[in-house]
Amino acid sequence: MFRKVLVSNRGEIAVRILRALRELEIPGVAVYSDADRAALHVRMAGEAAHIGPAPSVESYLNGRRLLEAAAAHGADAIHPGYGFLSENAAFAEACERAGITFIGPGSAAIRRMGSKTSARHIAAAAGAPIVPGTQDAVASAAEAAAVAREIGYPVLLKAAAGGGGKGMRLVHAEDELAPALRDAASEALNAFGSGEIYIEKYLERPRHIEIQVLADRNGHIIHLGERECSLQRRHQKVVEECPSPLVARNPDLRARMGEAAVRIARQAGYHNAGTVEFLADQQGNFYFLEMNTRLQVEHPVTELVTGLDLVHWQIRIAAGGPLLLRQEDIAWNGWALECRIYAEDPDNQFFPCPGRISDLEMPSGPGVRLDSGVYRGWTVPIDYDPLLAKLAVWAPSRDAAVHRMQRALGECLIAGIRTNIRFFRDLLEDERFRRGALDTGLIEDFLARGRAPATGDAGAEAAAILAAVAHTESQASNGGRVPPSVSRWLAQGRARMLR
Ligand code: ADP
Repeated sequence: MFRKVLVSNRGEIAVRILRALRELEIPGVAVYSDADRAALHVRMAGEAAHIGPAPSVESYLNGRRLLEAAAAHGADAIHPGYGFLSENAAFAEACERAGITFIGPGSAAIRRMGSKTSARHIAAAAGAPIVPGTQDAVASAAEAAAVAREIGYPVLLKAAAGGGGKGMRLVHAEDELAPALRDAASEALNAFGSGEIYIEKYLERPRHIEIQVLADRNGHIIHLGERECSLQRRHQKVVEECPSPLVARNPDLRARMGEAAVRIARQAGYHNAGTVEFLADQQGNFYFLEMNTRLQVEHPVTELVTGLDLVHWQIRIAAGGPLLLRQEDIAWNGWALECRIYAEDPDNQFFPCPGRISDLEMPSGPGVRLDSGVYRGWTVPIDYDPLLAKLAVWAPSRDAAVHRMQRALGECLIAGIRTNIRFFRDLLEDERFRRGALDTGLIEDFLARGRAPATGDAGAEAAAILAAVAHTESQASNGGRVPPSVSRWLAQGRARMLR
């Protein structure tokens, strides 16, 4: 087992991993930037290392600094959590070279699955259905037009190196294609340093259903069933559940999707925990979308229903231990839901609203799990994703889980900042949600029906600022320079968001 593990992340996920380390009696080291000196994950860690200024390019994305901190504290492994460097093959490789275990898959598997086109090749080779489209990036607008004509509009242009919805464009007709391709390519080039774009058939109102896999270093791979993450805003997950209401009605679907996911992981040479994402139609046809080579934000719902601790298994497997679970040992019991609680204003286009938490009461009681990264009196920094906590519940049935979530949301008191708790309370009353008739357009419909139009351009501006932050971060993490004019604009934008 490891001597000591450095957790190269912040917020609720750093807290969650430090807790697992404590249970395994492995000393943990937290890291923090200037903005996080007083953060919960630092407070609860036995040891902590300062890694730089607030901007994540200079701290949580600074691989060299993280490796120095690991060496200085005598850590022989790094857990990257999710986001930041968790899917960065170069960082995983640097850890391997430094003789520090990266708690995740090998750098080669991260690289293979990190490119969406390469991942599509692997999924196809594993005999899994993939979303119709091109296997590789398109070389010209003419080629794109020919492909789109063949698969039929609407089509989705996607960045091969993509993530977070960047470099994605929906195209309804041929005359929109060439400009959309140019836009998508330049956005992708800026964000990821690669302007490669491929094409997928745009599936109308699909469901997002993903399979959790676990694989040890000896090639033993199992799946832990699905999570349904169809409740999304701007293609980003907001509420997740396990099991999927669709899969619960089609008992053989879990086995078929699970087997496909295991074949894909095997084909990728994968070890550790990973998630194979699929889009499904209402009839239960499913298509490979991408693989996330890390722990997912929404992993608690799988833990609640299977009774397994994914972070414990990640650590044991990374240390070379065998995965002692057989597929037939895995059982799914009851129903779990998770809401991502953000410091944001649902009445103003979900504008991020970090700030000081003047009062805080959070729910507990039977069937409630809270993964939180905040405490009363702490100021949520503006420098990072404003996720405050994940509220998850377990109950024997979906109906009971929804009622329990409503009870738990009702017990949340977060004063001093705006949050999306009220939005969840309303969404959970939605008739389609209650029926389990989910698809990726449900929240947009719900918002269009139920909410007054937001004022001004505040949300759009915040989204632009956050996108630009992510863009400069990924540029800098690729060794690029951030021009001073961009830094200035970002600083001004951040100041405006704070007002
Ligand atoms: P990213 O990695 O940028 O988050 P993904 O490929 O994981 O992008 O897709 C995110 C979401 O975008 C999906 O859950 C789904 O809602 C939507 N999406 C992606 N591809 C398609 C497609 N071909 N058809 C319809 N929706 C899609």
